[in-house]
Amino acid sequence: QAKNAGRNSYRLFDPALQADVETRAALETALRDAISEGQLALHFQVQVDHGGQALGAEVLLRWEHPVYGHVPPAQFIPIAEASGLILPIGEWVLQQACAQLGAWAEQSQTRHLELAVNVSARQFRHPDFVSQVCEALKQSGAPPTRLVLELTESLVLHDVADTVAKMQALRRHGVRFALDDFGTGYSSLAHLRRLPLHQLKIDRSFVQDIVIEPGDAAIVQTIIGMARNLGLSVIAEGVETQAQRLALQRLDCTVFQGFLFGRPQPLSAFETWLAQPPTPISLFATALAVPL
Ligand code: C2E
Ligand code: MG
Ligand code: MG
Ligand code: MG
Repeated sequence: QAKNAGRNSYRLFDPALQADVETRAALETALRDAISEGQLALHFQVQVDHGGQALGAEVLLRWEHPVYGHVPPAQFIPIAEASGLILPIGEWVLQQACAQLGAWAEQSQTRHLELAVNVSARQFRHPDFVSQVCEALKQSGAPPTRLVLELTESLVLHDVADTVAKMQALRRHGVRFALDDFGTGYSSLAHLRRLPLHQLKIDRSFVQDIVIEPGDAAIVQTIIGMARNLGLSVIAEGVETQAQRLALQRLDCTVFQGFLFGRPQPLSAFETWLAQPPTPISLFATALAVPL
């Protein structure tokens, strides 16, 4: 008994835990002003087809605080979710992404590009979500068919009826949906079939060891087969090496994203990359040498 009490009191005054609570509180306070202080920015990570051509990019949010420096999304997105700050932040990301799509739509070299925007659960569940997306599209003149919204398995399965209704409402405008981090959750085929999805994103964890873990290769193969049967496109995320890309290509994966092709980068660097991508020859030469 005394031991238990001791453990509890220890836990209560655990300095590490206390620091964590304080950090979260400090970050939450700082995050409140991040938009108005101009500390948030979109980075763009290219998505390429089998020939190395850019299809578009995933939008990844970056927060640079004058004192805390670069705070990674893995740290501030959960705080934004818990505090509700994800609502204004998520809306800002959508507006910025749509503005970019609108600008790209005016140039013949860029009008084919798509942007994939991550949507968090709290944002998606908000009753105004559909009208928020429509408003962002209308204000910016972005072609709705160039906007892809990334949802996670846990998000879509939480309330399937609400999910399907919102997805269908946006589908009618031409907006498409990708299922992010696919394979890490518990989606059943029956549920997936009901969702008006366009794409599955194979989670980085399966891509990472695809060359050395036959089990991971089998999972990827199964996902690709399933996607094909459901009429869905597949993209592999987190592709870092040629060997991974080759293994994926052998399994008929045709769309890729990862450091091998490009890191998430600010708009100016991304547009420079677009104008002068690494030569398809150097990226894909090995594919020609290996029988597929
Ligand atoms: P995600 O949507 O699965 O995004 C992919 C993450 O993998 C990004 O991390 C990206 O930088 C990283 N990545 C891409 N290629 C590679 C690779 O080849 N190797 C490795 N090791 N990593 C790679 P990031 O930017 O730190 O974002 C982390 C997560 O934060 C995202 O995961 C997403 O869930 C969330 N997030 C980012 N931006 C937003 C946003 O605007 N809204 C919301 N709701 N969530 C966001
Ligand atoms: Mg994503
Ligand atoms: Mg992902
Ligand atoms: Mg992820």
